[in-house]
Amino acid sequence: MTKPIGRQIALGQPLFELEGITKVYNPDSEQRVEVLHGVSLKIQRGEFVAIMGASGSGKTTLMNILGCLDKPTGGRYLLAGTDVAGLDRSDLAWLRRSVFGFVFQSYNLIGTATAQENVEIPAIYAGHPAAERHRRAAELLGMLGLAERTTHRPNQLSGGQQQRVSIARALMNGGTAILADEPTGALDSTSGAEVLQFLEHLADEGHTVIIITHDAEVARHARRRIEIKDGNIVADVIQSWSEKAPSERPVKALDFIDHAKRLDEFSETLRMALRALRVNLLRTILTLLGIVIGVGSVVAMLAVGDGARQVVLDRIGSMGTDLLLIRPGAPNQRGVGNAIATLVPQDAEAISSLANVRAAVPELSASVTVRSGDSDYQTSATGTTADLTEIRDWPVARGSFFTREDAARYAAVTVLGQTVVNNLFPAGADPVGRFVLVNNVPFQVLGVMAAKGATASGADLDDVVFVPLSTGSLRLFGQRNVKTITVAVDDVDKIDATQSSVTALLAERHKAEDFQIRNMAAVLETAEATQNTLSVLLGSVGAISLLVGGIGVMNIMLVSVTERTREIGIRMATGARTRNILQQFLTEAVVVSIFGGLLGIGCGFAMAAGFMQFGVPAAVSLEVVALAFACAVAVGLVFGFAPALKAARLDPVVALASE
Ligand code: ADP
Repeated sequence: MTKPIGRQIALGQPLFELEGITKVYNPDSEQRVEVLHGVSLKIQRGEFVAIMGASGSGKTTLMNILGCLDKPTGGRYLLAGTDVAGLDRSDLAWLRRSVFGFVFQSYNLIGTATAQENVEIPAIYAGHPAAERHRRAAELLGMLGLAERTTHRPNQLSGGQQQRVSIARALMNGGTAILADEPTGALDSTSGAEVLQFLEHLADEGHTVIIITHDAEVARHARRRIEIKDGNIVADVIQSWSEKAPSERPVKALDFIDHAKRLDEFSETLRMALRALRVNLLRTILTLLGIVIGVGSVVAMLAVGDGARQVVLDRIGSMGTDLLLIRPGAPNQRGVGNAIATLVPQDAEAISSLANVRAAVPELSASVTVRSGDSDYQTSATGTTADLTEIRDWPVARGSFFTREDAARYAAVTVLGQTVVNNLFPAGADPVGRFVLVNNVPFQVLGVMAAKGATASGADLDDVVFVPLSTGSLRLFGQRNVKTITVAVDDVDKIDATQSSVTALLAERHKAEDFQIRNMAAVLETAEATQNTLSVLLGSVGAISLLVGGIGVMNIMLVSVTERTREIGIRMATGARTRNILQQFLTEAVVVSIFGGLLGIGCGFAMAAGFMQFGVPAAVSLEVVALAFACAVAVGLVFGFAPALKAARLDPVVALASE
């Protein structure tokens, strides 16, 4: 990035040229004050000038205008031949970091940074490589007699030392023009004399040095004295000549090139953010807590929602979603069960031949007593067909299930549930091939079902014996009406059409709607919708906490901006761009949110684990974790933006003047 001004600096051209500069504060209000009344002056490169005047005469105002910290109300200001009025915020920031070096009465060092770090700030904004920066800062501090003090913070340095650090900072990027506002005002006479001597030395080295002072003694050190009174120049005298002839004085090369490497800039921004957060550790932790609680509750709440949902859906899903359940009795008729006798096994056979039907399995059960040897056991016998194992997805563990042929020849065969086996046979005994008495009728055991466990309501699924429906109706149940018909379909997508054709078929066969059909796919859908609502509800609770956490971040960032207005001013005076300030505060907010997000995810896991300890199902999914983390970062960005923008938009002079 090469700016127009860089090439136009000609030796003969004044560095500063003011023509009729005026400055009016609060122009449209009662407190309107005109501070400068048309100041005109020229300052050449390499001059050592004192601008002297009583307090309130407008010296600082003039210096702020010269240093591009403030804009004049009227008149023309040419910096090396370029009209400053035409430059935007970013150009002005660039001028401040590449042309000017400021030395203030109150030093204006950043309190949380070491001497070395303070000196490096202008170079960070100019994008000089870190190694070069460190080397130059150390060299400058050494030159100013502070080699031993590089890691000290401002509050560990004397006034004179702090002022020397600020001079080193002013020189960091070259310091073509050094603007010093009452540089000795807060110093004892010895330190003050040292500082003045050094400024004189800089002028000899080719820097243009301008000192603002009310003190004639200080002004005496400069080679030219400009006196200002009530906003007008009243005297402009040459006091002395440099001992070096102009030809001996080096011409300061103007390094007007920015080297900004975004990546380097970012790592510096991150370091500054971490430092700022560390300095206010308690406050940072409290802000963090808001985000931790927010993210933690999002994760935990969604985990509970997901857990509940999985349990419900698993229960329904384990029954199979490709099923239609047909029960006897008209819709809304009470007392559904064996008492209502409307479905017959032939209905199941008829349904089997419909399109898209894989199998239709009738079931009929009754309580029976099973006996083996001396043991009796009360259980329930279910009469069904050979397809049961397939549609229930329930294989036999040993032996085999009965076949269609067994049913056709009314064979007295049975397949036992695991619980029945456990109660009737000693451990390790194989019941397959043996005979048992079911309600005193001898049945041969063909096989043993695999253990299925308990239903959601706690009923033991393994406490059952299966017999062919034909044999069961004849010899055990004394009736042929079935309790349920379970229909499995081939294509679940067409389950609704199949339901309609089953309804039509049964209505046709019965001449009445004396049956009910439940569609498991539809049940699953309804359950899923209910569970989704639950998840949204729980998620909202988490989201609200996160929102509150976000507002906490914003609140703290606003406080932080207000507190650090002066620091922002210092950064702007040392050449920070609007973007740098915006980035810095935004980074602070986002760093807090990222830390909070990570801790929050950990807390969420812990809470979910806690819930599970108490028997509440919870399942943390990767999506939820990613979502919560993304939300945390977004919260940082969104809620950090307003404070960061507020900081970035501050006026450098206003920010510098703040307490
Ligand atoms: P000096 O540096 O010579 O003491 P200043 O330039 O600081 O003088 O101020 C000159 C005058 O301008 C003072 O009377 C002061 O009250 C006024 N002034 C300075 N800054 C502001 C401001 N931001 N708003 C209103 N008046 C101001």
